[in-house]
Amino acid sequence: MYWEKDLETLERDQLTALQLTRLRQTLAQASRGALYARRLEEAGLTPEALRCADDVRRIPLTEKQDLRDSYPFGLLCVDREQGIRLHSSSGTTGQPTVVVHNRHDLDSWANLVARSMYCAGVRSRDTFQNICGYGLFTGGLGFQYGAERLGCLTIPAGAGNTRRQVKILTDCGSTVIHAIPSYLPRLHQGMAEMGVAPGDTEVRIILTGAEPHSEGTRLRLQELFGVPVFNSYGLTEMNGPGVGFECEYQTGLHVWEDAFLLELLHPETLAPVAEGDIGEVVLTTLDRQAMPMLRYRTRDLARLLSGPCPCGRTHRRISRILGRSDDMVIIKGCNVFPVQIEQVLMRFPELGHDYLIRLISEEPGDQMRIDVEMRPEFFTDDWRALDGLCRRLAEAVCDEVLVTPKVKLVEPGSLPRADGKAIRVLDERIGS
Ligand code: ADP
Ligand code: ZN
Repeated sequence: MYWEKDLETLERDQLTALQLTRLRQTLAQASRGALYARRLEEAGLTPEALRCADDVRRIPLTEKQDLRDSYPFGLLCVDREQGIRLHSSSGTTGQPTVVVHNRHDLDSWANLVARSMYCAGVRSRDTFQNICGYGLFTGGLGFQYGAERLGCLTIPAGAGNTRRQVKILTDCGSTVIHAIPSYLPRLHQGMAEMGVAPGDTEVRIILTGAEPHSEGTRLRLQELFGVPVFNSYGLTEMNGPGVGFECEYQTGLHVWEDAFLLELLHPETLAPVAEGDIGEVVLTTLDRQAMPMLRYRTRDLARLLSGPCPCGRTHRRISRILGRSDDMVIIKGCNVFPVQIEQVLMRFPELGHDYLIRLISEEPGDQMRIDVEMRPEFFTDDWRALDGLCRRLAEAVCDEVLVTPKVKLVEPGSLPRADGKAIRVLDERIGS
């Protein structure tokens, strides 16, 4: 059932003891780099000064801006010649950040990804097709080495070229695939165009992540492909994939707490939030040498989930990521996350998977317009029916986010498609 039973089911007190040991080592390692050496000295912190894992709160936070300011090598804590791999974030929200790994880091990362995949039910007999950008993006090589470590026959299929993906999938009998959620409907469509039904393939597990998506989207994807879809959370600054992963029970994402110290903080007061409340995910690496990271503010918002998981793993779980604090849209005084809207849209069988939220300036005030694709089989020239659908959609969205949008139904395939992560919001307001 487990990749590393002892670690995955460690009693909580032993787990926090392990965290303290590793936190102290991490602090010692971090102080080999200029920025952390200065910050820790200013805070008067030494590894011995930490008495329990909760003492992590005495350490200053690291902001994305710190990484940008020290781009590319300012946070390196080993000699540059010891680094053997460099990755960079996708740059979704600005200047990309760079992370360097030494041999130990890569070894530990591959193990975490293998553990994550195993936890979702992947086994060494599986053939794993990684439909994901290789290169600087961590989803490619991250899953590649993790799957190899697990022992899967691993196919570095790369991103895009749907016809070729379908050919590989059918020719090689892939049993597990990994792709970002916004690509999976396209893959399904490509299969349909080539006359391949999901049931005709060997696929039994789908792994997805890297961008916010709602539970409604997961349910749709599961229906579309007829197999379970597991959520995978990670970010370049914390290696990439292998930070949090769902187990077979799909009860939220287990965060590997022997490798990452997890905090959920109120984004403004920075105080720990109560269990169940939304907080910003803040992570400290516990097993990284080349670029340890102390209390990194991910800007990702999630809830801490309570109660044990039937799988027996003791590592705590977080909800799916509700969005990045940078993704939050403020319109008519309301705070709205695109996934909240997505969750509503996915309840309507008439709608496809793609949508775009546009914020526009109009008299008498700013408006939110949602362009959403309709499924071809629901197209009709009965304008009254279409109008009724738009009205029901607007009401359902308003119930969820307290803003009434204008809804525009568009043809499938007509919304712009990003090469990588999907773009869900266009802010076209004057002055934005
Ligand atoms: P970038 O921040 O430029 O997109 P990364 O490629 O490192 O760079 O992506 C990491 C980010 O992707 C995370 O901080 C998070 O916002 C998002 N992300 C990763 N996995 C998930 C997931 N399973 N659900 C929602 N968002 C995710
Ligand atoms: Zn579990």
